Amino acid sequence: MAKAEAQEAAANEIISSDPATGREIGRVRITTPDEVREAVERSRQVFHMWKTTSFAERRRLVMRAREVILDEMEPIAELISAESGKPRGEAIALEIAPVLDLMQWIARSAEKMLRPRRIGIGLFGLLGRSSQVVYHPLGVVAIIPAWNYPFSIPLGEAVMSLMAGNTVVIKPSELTPLTGVKIGEIFERAGFPKDAVQIVSGAGETGAALVEAAPDKIAFTGSVATGRKIAEAAARNLTSVVLELGGKDPMIVLADADLEAAANAAVWGAFCNAGQNCASVERLYVHESVAEALTRRIVKKTKQLKLGPGTDPDVSVGPMSSERQIRIVERHVDDFREAGAVIPIGGSRVLPKTRRRGEEEKGSGGEFEHGSGAATQDDFSSPFLDVSSSLYFLPTVITGATNDMRPMREETFGPTLPICTFATEEEAIALANDTEFGLTASVWTRDIARGRRIAEQIEAGSVCINEHLYTHGIGQTPWGGFKNSGRGRTHGLEGLLELVQPQHIHTNRITLLPDAWWMPYSPTALETFRGFAAKFATGSLLKTATLLPQLWKRIKELSRR
Ligand code: NDP
Repeated sequence: MAKAEAQEAAANEIISSDPATGREIGRVRITTPDEVREAVERSRQVFHMWKTTSFAERRRLVMRAREVILDEMEPIAELISAESGKPRGEAIALEIAPVLDLMQWIARSAEKMLRPRRIGIGLFGLLGRSSQVVYHPLGVVAIIPAWNYPFSIPLGEAVMSLMAGNTVVIKPSELTPLTGVKIGEIFERAGFPKDAVQIVSGAGETGAALVEAAPDKIAFTGSVATGRKIAEAAARNLTSVVLELGGKDPMIVLADADLEAAANAAVWGAFCNAGQNCASVERLYVHESVAEALTRRIVKKTKQLKLGPGTDPDVSVGPMSSERQIRIVERHVDDFREAGAVIPIGGSRVLPKTRRRGEEEKGSGGEFEHGSGAATQDDFSSPFLDVSSSLYFLPTVITGATNDMRPMREETFGPTLPICTFATEEEAIALANDTEFGLTASVWTRDIARGRRIAEQIEAGSVCINEHLYTHGIGQTPWGGFKNSGRGRTHGLEGLLELVQPQHIHTNRITLLPDAWWMPYSPTALETFRGFAAKFATGSLLKTATLLPQLWKRIKELSRR
């Protein structure tokens, strides 16, 4: 049953439901636009206090929040899994563990990364000047995340913002509101000051109200279309925005690649979180000489995947998060079929198997296994649900895909793996870059130097060699996209610097003499300025030395007045 259709909600609330069953999990009251504005105002009040706290105090509280998460790891994983549909193991491995790692790293490193820094200013230094950069927090950071990583993305961005001295207002996705509320509780239990982290709940309108409330920074994760709307709305207040948007990430498998590793990685990269990852493998380009061998392996491994509710520890692929999303996947698969591509496995929405034909009903409900038979609709018949209302989509491999097919150009965000062949390295690079997106990419080869060379020619924010997908989980590294995949960065030093404003402090220790560029101007001044352009501005000490007599003449002239 589609999430939005699960139950009747009152006008002022959203219902969160489990995509595996359609069952209601809980309700959250929608924050009104006025309340959103008030939340931002309160956040700004607290900011004036929070920005004066020491890094040691911020570190203590973030480390305390880690402990709260560790104490509650199982119920948190259960909640993430229930709201988003992902297997509980993925909730732990791909959300909780990476964000815990990010938290310990940023808690320990932020002070060093934001330490005041002296800057070399070349020949100005010889004139008794010096420059330092100090970093100031921005104020209120508004975090508007997508639903696919409802815990780790907003929580990680909140922690980085807080360590930089900002306060935070989060608007979780309407599909995962309870996980958002849980994030608020974690900060509260850790002892953060009241209102340092606030959660406002609702759908897109609540996000729009948050943008309009003029926070000092917006960290947005979501689609290109919404990102554009947010950037437009933010521009009215000159609020700067980090946009983490969609992807159509290519995986390039060269002829010399370890095919077993590449096949395992392709299956994980395309089907984990039911393919609902911004960095999912959405296009696989394989050298024509190994295409058949790789495809055979991929299909075999896909057959072994068990589909079902995220509560089952054996399940690898859960339901998709929403009816809207599964419809996009269906449309793309239909488009592939119509364009002549072949689907050796998967290709349709299915019911979770509660009873296999001729078998006893399995009590828990919602179990699916590719391995025991062909991936056809017949294997998944269930007396209990209508397939059109199921949010389960079979992991789907598509061969014979080409870049001119429409679904190779739009983000699918579902469990599909289209495979394309190439003949030369240049062709592979051109195919990979033939997209509006540029989030991540991967190159698979035993020749690391060649992999590096290719990686640098791919237009994407992160490119892995013999790895993929998981680098968002390495908090020390910058995350963000080229082209329409985003603007700005989260994570790493680059991400931290998005959350502060640098201030340049410039000092002149020699005030006895006037500056040669001061007024009044004169023919001597003009001659000196010509010397600045021709000699001083070369950065060469030797050339500048020849300017000294003219400089001295000018300073004497100014000193006499
Ligand atoms: P959406 O763009 O639909 O929504 C993202 C967030 O914006 C949600 O919280 C949504 O609220 C909110 N929102 C919607 N409309 C507005 C508005 N007018 N003003 C302010 N906020 C608004 O994206 P999805 O949730 O569908 O997420 C999927 C997309 O996110 C994919 O394209 C994926 O690639 C991308 N993504 C990118 C990542 C990256 O790091 N680059 C990481 C994860 C996902 P609500 O959900 O309540 O409608």
